[in-house]
Amino acid sequence: MAKGFKNKGHLVIQMNIQEATKCNFGFEIPGLNNLVVCGTCNNECKPANIYYIAALNEVMCEDCMNDYCNNMNHHNDKDSLTYEIAHFNDIGTKLNIEHYADIINDALVLYTDKEIKEYIADNEANDYLSSMESHEIYDVNV
Ligand SMILES: [Zn+2]
Repeated sequence: MAKGFKNKGHLVIQMNIQEATKCNFGFEIPGLNNLVVCGTCNNECKPANIYYIAALNEVMCEDCMNDYCNNMNHHNDKDSLTYEIAHFNDIGTKLNIEHYADIINDALVLYTDKEIKEYIADNEANDYLSSMESHEIYDVNV
């Protein structure tokens, strides 16, 4: 099953050959199995270990993914992050991965559907409590 993760800040999705085919990666030749070639070394990716690099919108083999994540700076400017997050969430949605990416409190975070609902619920609860407190203070002053 495809899964999303951060590697040195870079958003990556690990997928297998069936999932890569679903996202239109590789070269499908009628009558033959799909072939996914690493965008960096041009070798065939192992069918169980294909890595999607969201910032490049490209798939790589495991060695090249690690090489890229360990050696490339992760770009944190708004345009780069917007591009990376949009591609990560787009491919993630196609593959039903558990985690999605977003910027929360100026940090690039991965969250599950359940976590974001809890986060929103917590913040609504905090807003509610702080409005209650200010209301009570106001009442006391009156
Ligand atoms: Zn490679």
